[in-house]
Amino acid sequence: MKKPIITLEQAQSIAKQYPTPYHIYTQAGIEANADRLKEAFSWNKSFKEHFAVKATPNPTIMKILAKKGCGMDCSSLTELMLCEKCGITGDDIMFTSNETPAEEYALALKLGATITLDDISHIDFLANIAGGHLPETISLRFNSGADFKIGNQIMGQPQDSKYGMTRPQIEEALTKLMALGVKRFGLHAFLASNNLSNGYYPTLAKLLFKLAAEMNKKTGADFAFINLSGGIGIPYRPEDQMPDIYEIGREVQQAYNEVFTSSMKPGIRTELGRFMLGPYGNLITKVVHFKHIYKEYAGVDACAANLMRPAMYGAYHHITVLGKENAPLSYTYDVVGSLCENNDKFAIDRKLPKLEIGDYLAIHDTGAHGYAMGYNYNGRLRSAELLLTKDGKIKLIRRAETPEDYFSTMIFD
Ligand SMILES: *Cc1c(COP(=O)(O)O)cnc(C)c1O
Repeated sequence: MKKPIITLEQAQSIAKQYPTPYHIYTQAGIEANADRLKEAFSWNKSFKEHFAVKATPNPTIMKILAKKGCGMDCSSLTELMLCEKCGITGDDIMFTSNETPAEEYALALKLGATITLDDISHIDFLANIAGGHLPETISLRFNSGADFKIGNQIMGQPQDSKYGMTRPQIEEALTKLMALGVKRFGLHAFLASNNLSNGYYPTLAKLLFKLAAEMNKKTGADFAFINLSGGIGIPYRPEDQMPDIYEIGREVQQAYNEVFTSSMKPGIRTELGRFMLGPYGNLITKVVHFKHIYKEYAGVDACAANLMRPAMYGAYHHITVLGKENAPLSYTYDVVGSLCENNDKFAIDRKLPKLEIGDYLAIHDTGAHGYAMGYNYNGRLRSAELLLTKDGKIKLIRRAETPEDYFSTMIFD
């Protein structure tokens, strides 16, 4: 059974200060998970998780992870600026972008971030911005094409995805970068998203380890790290299994020991987003209307502007009715938001306990790619974000948007 982050009593108490809807995160959950990841990869002395900022771009969350030894992974100007504002700079930042505007590379260079190039054409583009002085370490993003068979709905098959370079391009890029004075390299690939199999990372790792070893032989390139990127999934459905991070760590270690038999011992980096935060956030919303036409609808005060995944990819998010955790699931509802878009449905034909107006619903696993994907369609405002701290207190970590925020970019002539 999936456990909501807060109880009905906590929701009622929070309601005195903060109206629904809001996203709430559990600090204890986030920290324990970060510790497990670190432990699973502790065999690699320079292991580092660079949290994918886009999943949950919140300074409090980022600082919690930074305290646990995590760096950050950015892919845009404002994400870089956000890191700088949080005091995170230098090699603690990976900058893994694509179709990158010049000003973004300029800031990444200024902050000393480790840059992952998405394409071979970006070598000259970056060298130009850097005034000919490229950083000592450069990372390259690889696209395996059809060599890697685990694709999925979010990313598609690697050969259909826009990211990364082909194998011949990786080789050419390494040779060219060495000629330009680059000393050390990273190798990166992100080939599947939300993958629940313990085999995803080990399979990807083996592919990248072998490629690095082969490229080292061919070009003499020295690899400082292999970046396994994001992609470890989380159990959105109650029947799904949480990937076993210790098993994943062991299998990656096995592949590492098989491939790296020479003196080259690269560090391992990861750029997990969903795995780091997904299960540790809930979207709390209240039932405000019922409607019976051809189906039974429960209308709630959150909408797809607060959580886009169900509307965007039909994603399943489990729902618990606070205070009715053990009630029989004897009713069937479509749980819907208020957007003038018929895909604004958090759940379709979902078995739930009998709902009443004012019931609090916890929509699970919204800690990553939840608030972050929010938008203002229909003039809907982004919600607040709250943190349940380790000592059980509720802390506001982002205020809700106001109509003034919404109007602030408009020009009223
Ligand atoms: C989105 C993203 C991640 C994180 O992906 P998850 O599926 O959340 O783990 C990591 N690296 C890059 C480059 C990304 O774009």
